Formats: sequence, C-alpha cells, structure tokens
Amino acid sequence: MGRNLQILILGAGFAGVATARGLEHALRADEAEITVVGRDNFSLFTPMLPEVSAGGLETRHVVTPVRAQLRRSRYVLGDVIAVDLAARAVDVQHSITGATQTLTYDHLVLALGSVTSTFGIPGVADHALPLKTLEDAERLRNRVIASLELADVTRDPVERARLLTYVIVGGGYTGAEGAGELIDLFHSITPYYRSIAPRDVRIVLIEAGPVLLAGLPVGMGNYTKKNLLSRGIELHLGDAVTSLDDRAICLASGAMIPTATVLWSAGVRPTPVLRDLPLQHARNGGIIVGRDFAVPDRPGVWALGDCAWIPMKTPGEWYPMTAQHAIREGPALARNIAAVLHGQATKPFDFTALGTMASLGARSGVASLANGLVISGFPAWFLWRTYYLSRLPGFDRKVRVALDWLLGLIFRRDIAELRVYTQRSSERAARDAGLDPASDLPARTSID
Ligand SMILES: Cc1cc2nc3c(=O)[nH]c(=O)nc-3n(C[C@H](O)[C@H](O)[C@H](O)COP(=O)(O)OP(=O)(O)OC[C@H]3O[C@@H](n4cnc5c(N)ncnc54)[C@H](O)[C@@H]3O)c2cc1C
Repeated sequence: MGRNLQILILGAGFAGVATARGLEHALRADEAEITVVGRDNFSLFTPMLPEVSAGGLETRHVVTPVRAQLRRSRYVLGDVIAVDLAARAVDVQHSITGATQTLTYDHLVLALGSVTSTFGIPGVADHALPLKTLEDAERLRNRVIASLELADVTRDPVERARLLTYVIVGGGYTGAEGAGELIDLFHSITPYYRSIAPRDVRIVLIEAGPVLLAGLPVGMGNYTKKNLLSRGIELHLGDAVTSLDDRAICLASGAMIPTATVLWSAGVRPTPVLRDLPLQHARNGGIIVGRDFAVPDRPGVWALGDCAWIPMKTPGEWYPMTAQHAIREGPALARNIAAVLHGQATKPFDFTALGTMASLGARSGVASLANGLVISGFPAWFLWRTYYLSRLPGFDRKVRVALDWLLGLIFRRDIAELRVYTQRSSERAARDAGLDPASDLPARTSID
C-alpha cells in the first residue's frame, strides 16, 4: 500500500485548528493524513487574555485542548525548529522530551502566528512584559501584585511612586484593553494593601501615533480615549519610546517616566522560524500569499493567519491580523486544498468583517458594527462578552468563563501570588538537599 498524502499544518492556534477542522470536513479519511504541530497542547483564546492578566478570569478557562478540537487529525506536540521547503520536510522538537523528528509533507500549511515585536528599541526585550501568551499574562499579574507588595512596605516616596507606576506601550486593542483591565484590577485589590489608595496608582498609556485604536473607525478611538482619561489613565499620544531599563522608560519628547512595570503591546512580527524562508516577505516579515492563501511559486505551500499577508480584493489592502479573520481563513483554505486535490480551481478568500469590538473594563466597551454604527459603554461591553463567550471553543470552557464573570460580580480579584510560594519552596528544597540556593537557583531581582 502506498504512502498516504500528507498535509502538515504548523501552528495550533485559531488558523491552524480551523484549517484542520475544515480539512476533516472537506476530505475523506482515505484521501489524506492530516497532522497538526503545536508547541502547547492547547490553543489560547487571546481576546480574553487581558482579563486573565488582570485576574478577572482563571488561566485554564481560556485555553482549549487541541486534541478536543480535532476529530481525526494527528497532533504532534512540539516546536517547529526548521522548515526545509526544498526537501518538503519540517524538523520538530518534542515539547516534553526535546527529541527532534522530521515530518515530511505533500501540502504544508504555515499557521504559526506572530510574536511581539520590540522594534530593536534598547531595553524592551529585557525589561518590558509582552502580552501574547498565557505565561505573559501570568507574569504580568504576578509583577503587578509583587509591585503592590513592595510598595506597601516601602518608605521612600520616590521609590514607592516608581513601584506604583504602570506603563503600557501601544494604543491598539491589547494596550487599550490591558489599560482598562488594570484599572479594574487596582480598584478591586488595593483595599488589601492598607497603605495604598487607588489614587496612588499611576497608569500611563503611550502610543506613538496620534490616536488610539488606529486603523479602526475614528469613533472607537475617540470613545476609548475619553473612557480611559475619565478613569484616570494618563495618555501620551504621538510620543515614541526610545529606550527603557529596569528603572524608567524614556520617550522621544524627552519625558522620562520612572516605573517598575512596562507592558509592551506595540506590534507583532511573524514567528522567527519563518523569517529566513526563501519566500516573499512583507515589511514586518509576514509571508505574502495569493488571495487563495497559496505561497507564490511553491506549489503545495500555503500560509494564513497572523504569519501571512493576505491581499484583499481592493489592490494594496490586506486582511487584518485578527482571530475573527483567522477562523474564517481556515475553512476557506481547507476548501482550496481539497479543490487542488480534486483537480479543481481554488477560490479567492473574500470576507467582510462583522465589526470590531474592544472591552475596556468597568462594564464599558466600544464596538463598530458591520453597518458602520459605533456603539459604546455598557451595550458594547455586553455585546463583547456575549460574542466572545459564544466563540470560545468548548462548552465546558464557556460555562467556566461565565461562572468566573458571575463570581467577579461578587468577590474581589485574587491576590494570591503562587510564584513567590513555589520559588521559596524550591529554595527550601535546595537547602534541604545541601545545595546553595543563591547559586543553584536563578537570582531574584527586586521585583521579579
Ligand atoms: C492580548 C491579545 C488580544 C487579542 N484580542 C483579539 C480580539 O479581541 N479579537 C480578535 O479578532 N483578535 C484578537 N487578537 C489577535 C488574535 O489573537 C490573532 O490575530 C490570532 O491569534 C491569529 O491566529 P493565528 O492562528 O494566526 O495565530 P495564533 O493564534 O497565535 O496561533 C499560532 C500558534 O502557533 C504556535 N507556534 C508559534 N510558533 C511555533 C513554533 N515554532 N512551533 C510550534 N508552534 C508554534 C503558537 O504557540 C500558537 O499556538 C488578540 C491578540 C492578543 C495577543
């Protein structure tokens, strides 16, 4: 019996899983073997990540096991470390064992998403906190709690002010939603810290461009600005970050803001493993594809989601990098791969966004509907929650998130910071084992 046709999907996020599910639907089991590769055994529902970082949602409730989303595709848990287009082979390092295996393919789907871009600004990679992954959200929450713990016992007013200053860089979705969520978090948890009042906390949002939520309808940016200002957030619009270190952040205007916590949400670039592929790349490194997701001059290679630049019908316009698009692109690509296998023509992707929404915390939000109408405040927030809850994969996840939201109406957010506890217990275990915790464990900084 000959080898089955192999379809290899790299990435188990919105785009990768949607493509696999689409292929399971479009192809018979004996037509092709579908393999998905991802570095985690779950996919992350990013729209709810800002709420996780602010302790509004439990970490595990916003992820869905990949295996639970696939019916007959094979799943390989591992990191893609090399793609050889000439040999039609991909090297994958297993996430648990570290062993490397080579997977070959007839059709390759690149759906590896994006990583945070530091734009080469000095200090960003070392000192800023991104918000892209579950670990990022946990780290941010831990950092915020650690800074409050320290500020609560710090006598020096200058150092105390630095610890209580939180800077967010980037006025897009993530920055605006992150800022709104942070205010909610502080309002909820500062009562635990007797010496800290909510007014002692300074939140600064820096955006290099002149408006918030650039690229979205102007009304959305205007409302977001008004909303954040009214809740005490300091806005620096049209000012770019030039450098930062563990003490302060410096801006092009000459301003210098002492801070211990910088959330970096200024932009993304495709996953590094794709960077050096001999393909046509866009200015941020994304892979330029045709309107049917085909990589030019590479039959059998396709790309979609955040790692791809997909042209719209109007020349010079590209589909935005959003989950809303990625989950529509997946089934469309699956149909195109099936068409090629069945000797038919592929179809260009054509999708009009249903609208855009941002949740700003404090039961307020802003949304632009498909008919161009911008709504704001409670109705937009309610719409955001209803829509994203309905899109969260897995019925059990929906119930868990709904319960988190319900409990959030009753209880304060949690300030238990288990990292301190686990670090201390590893130090104790090291001491019990006769090791020197200071040299055998990673050093602790004043805030980490
Ligand atoms: C905080 C935040 C909030 C957002 N809010 C919204 C929103 O409200 N609405 C919206 O529409 N969009 C939102 N987005 C954007 C949305 O998350 C992305 O557009 C979407 O995730 C793109 O889907 P994707 O499948 O291309 O990439 P991803 O979902 O990122 O999936 C890529 C997958 O590939 C994996 N991967 C990467 N590199 C490797 C490797 N080398 N080996 C193995 N696996 C790898 C990753 O772990 C990931 O699972 C938000 C993004 C963030 C960060």
